[in-house]
Amino acid sequence: MLNNGSNSLHGLKRKRRGLMVVLSSPSGAGKSTLTRKLLTENSNMTMSVSATTRRARSGEQDGVDYYFVGKTEFSKMLDNEEFLEHAKVFDNYYGTPRAPVEAALADGKDVVFDIDWQGAQQLTQAAGDDLVKIFILPPSKRELETRLQTRAQDSANVIARRMAKSEAEISHWAEYDYIIVNDDLETAMTELRTIVTAERLKRRRQLWLGPFVKGLIEGR
Ligand code: 5GP
Repeated sequence: MLNNGSNSLHGLKRKRRGLMVVLSSPSGAGKSTLTRKLLTENSNMTMSVSATTRRARSGEQDGVDYYFVGKTEFSKMLDNEEFLEHAKVFDNYYGTPRAPVEAALADGKDVVFDIDWQGAQQLTQAAGDDLVKIFILPPSKRELETRLQTRAQDSANVIARRMAKSEAEISHWAEYDYIIVNDDLETAMTELRTIVTAERLKRRRQLWLGPFVKGLIEGR
């Protein structure tokens, strides 16, 4: 293992650009489970916690799952340009607070975003090169419906509306860099890990390579 002072492989490797990983899917495609697993496995990765005007579901925690805010507070945040992106989904407003994302990226951390296609489009304009967009598809419509019913967090009425909306969400699949069909959770997880690894290895993201290769050539 190379470890010779300023050109040490370990020291240099810290100098990389953080990824912005966007995960979108229709509700019930398994996105939350995959996201949770990815974060558990990667200590250098953090979740962007969105603000929303929707009510908390049972078990959801303010500041962990979302920042649950009123419409007035959301509007104020919007006016103060506190959001990196925002959108209306179903009947509620959702927005990604800008400051924590900028702080995490500056700290060399990867940031994961659980946002819809509207948010992904806005981040494409705002973030460009740092962005990796992944879309998760369910294996079938029937399976999607079953998963929404098993979740049992929403009323039948809400489930029906989410099913109707899923078609609109899925229609944006081609705007994403990667597509994962979540039929088997372990396979989907392996695919997700592979995408993150490959994206981290992209030359332009490894800012440490220039000095490292210079050292290699000069025999240091
Ligand atoms: P849910 O209410 O089920 O938690 O989320 C509904 C939808 O809103 C999901 O597709 C989720 O990805 C999306 N969403 C959550 N937070 C944000 C956000 O900050 N911005 C955008 N554009 N979409 C979001």
